[in-house]
Amino acid sequence: MATAETLAPIAVSDAPAASHAPATVDGGFAALGLRDELVRAVLAHGYSTPTPIQKQAIPAVLEGGDLLGGAQTGTGKTAGFVLPMLQRLMLSAKPQLPPNNGARGKKLPRALILAPTRELAAQVEESVRIYGKFLPMTSTCIFGGVGINPQIQAMRHGVDIVVATPGRLLDLYGQGAINFSQIEILVLDEADRMLDMGFIHDIKKVLAVLPPKRQNLLFSATFSDDIKALTDRLLNNPKMIEVARRNTTIEVVDQSVVLVDKAHKAKLLVHLIREQKWTQSLIFTRTKHGANRLAEQLEKSGISAMAIHGNKSQGARTKALAEFKTGTLQALVATDIAARGIDIDQLPQVVNYELPNVPEDYVHRIGRTGRAGASGQAMSLVTNEELPLLKDIERFSKQVIARVKIEGFNPALIADPVSTTADARDAEWAARGGRPAPRGRPGGSGAKRPSSGGSAGYGGGAGGAGGAGGGQRPPSGPPRGRAPAGAPSARPRTGGGGARGR
Ligand code: AMP
Repeated sequence: MATAETLAPIAVSDAPAASHAPATVDGGFAALGLRDELVRAVLAHGYSTPTPIQKQAIPAVLEGGDLLGGAQTGTGKTAGFVLPMLQRLMLSAKPQLPPNNGARGKKLPRALILAPTRELAAQVEESVRIYGKFLPMTSTCIFGGVGINPQIQAMRHGVDIVVATPGRLLDLYGQGAINFSQIEILVLDEADRMLDMGFIHDIKKVLAVLPPKRQNLLFSATFSDDIKALTDRLLNNPKMIEVARRNTTIEVVDQSVVLVDKAHKAKLLVHLIREQKWTQSLIFTRTKHGANRLAEQLEKSGISAMAIHGNKSQGARTKALAEFKTGTLQALVATDIAARGIDIDQLPQVVNYELPNVPEDYVHRIGRTGRAGASGQAMSLVTNEELPLLKDIERFSKQVIARVKIEGFNPALIADPVSTTADARDAEWAARGGRPAPRGRPGGSGAKRPSSGGSAGYGGGAGGAGGAGGGQRPPSGPPRGRAPAGAPSARPRTGGGGARGR
C-alpha cells in the first residue's frame, strides 16, 4: 500500500470552480475519453464544459487505478467519479453472472459508493441516474431513517450500483440482503466527514467484506492524520488530484458579518429576509432545537420556513428539501449535518444564524452557495459571545470578513476590534465631512441596498454623512475588511456593498 506522502500528484490546481471555461459545443467531455451515451447525458443535463476536477478525475478513473481526490463539495466532483465509473462498469459488464453467486440469476452490485449522510447519498444516486440515463444500468440508495424492507426488495431485484450510508448498509449485510462479491469499484465520498461522524468502524467492517481486487476512489476536502491512515489502508498506489483549495473556493462567495445583540437576532433575520427579498435562503443553526425554534419564529412572521435535522423523519426532510428547491419554501433552517450534501444549483443566500464551533464547518456551510461557478452571498449574524468563533473562522480561512451594519440593529456593545477600527475610520471621515462614495454592487443583477437606510459596510459611512446608500472611505482605504499580510485578499469581488438584495 502506498502512503499518502508518497503519492505523486498528477495535477494540482488552485483553480476555483468559478474558473470554468465557457461552454463549448462538444463540451470537452468527449475529449476526456467518455463514450457517447455519457456525453449525451451530461449535455442533456445542461453541462457543456468539464469542471477542473472533472478534467482530472475522469481520465484518471478511466485508467482503472485508485484515486485520491482532494476536492470540496461544489467543485463538480460527483460527476467526476460517477461518469467514468459508469463507463468502466459498462465496459466490464459480463453477459452472464458467475454460477452459484447466490442471487438466483439476479444482478449483483458492481459498484458501491459510501456517503456520510442520507441527503448526500440520495443526491449522488440521483446523479448516477441522470448520467446513466442512456445506459442499461440500475442503482439504488440505502440509508437509515426509512423502512428497510423496500431496500431489501431492491437488492433482491438486483442493481448495478449501490449508494449508501455505512450504518444501514451493514444492517442489510447483517441480514444477508446484500452480496458484495461482485464489487469492482468502491467510492468513499466526503471521507473526512464520514470520519468526523464516527463512521470509521463501519467503514472498516465494509472494507473487510469487499473483494480485495477492486478500484478504490476516495474524495475528501481535508487530509487529517485519520484520513491519511485510511488512504494508506485503502488505496493502492493512487493518483492524487486536488482542486479548489479551501481558500479559493470561498472566494466566489460574497461574505459578510452583521454584529447584533442576541435578543434581536430573530427580528434581524426576519427584517433581512423581507427587506432584501431573500426568496431562497439556507439558514444554519447550531442545534436541532434551535433550528425548530427559528423555523417556528419565521413562520409566525409570515415567512415560509421549515427545519431539517437528524431528528426529523426522512419523509419530512425530503419534503422540506423538495419544497425549498422548487421555491415554495422561502427559508430552510438546518443544522450542519443535515445540510451536508444539500445541492441546489445557484442557491443565492446562506445565513449563519449561529456560527459553527468548528471553523471548517463555516467553509462547508458557505460552500452551499457559489457552487460550480455561480456566485452567492453568505451572511453571518454574530453576537458578542460568538466573536471568538468568528476570529477562529477568519484565522482558518485567512481573511477578515466584511462587517456590515443594518440600521436599527446595532449591538449595544461591540467587542470586535475590526468593526471598532472601522467605526473609528467612519467617525474620522464623518468629522472631515468626507465625500460619499458609491457603494454596493454597481447595477448588479437586481442588486439593491437595503431599504430604510439599510446597511452600510464598515469602512464606509453608516455613521457618516453619506446616509443611506452612500458611505465614505479614504480613496485608498481597504474595501470591506482587510486580509492579513500574506493571506488571500479579503474578498471584495463586489466592490464592498455589504448587505444586498436579490
Ligand atoms: P458537486 O461538487 O459534485 O457536489 O457538484 C456541485 C454542483 O456543480 C452541482 O450542482 C452540479 O450539478 C454542478 N456541476 C457538476 N458538473 C458541472 C459542470 N461540468 N458544469 C456546471 N455545473 C456542474
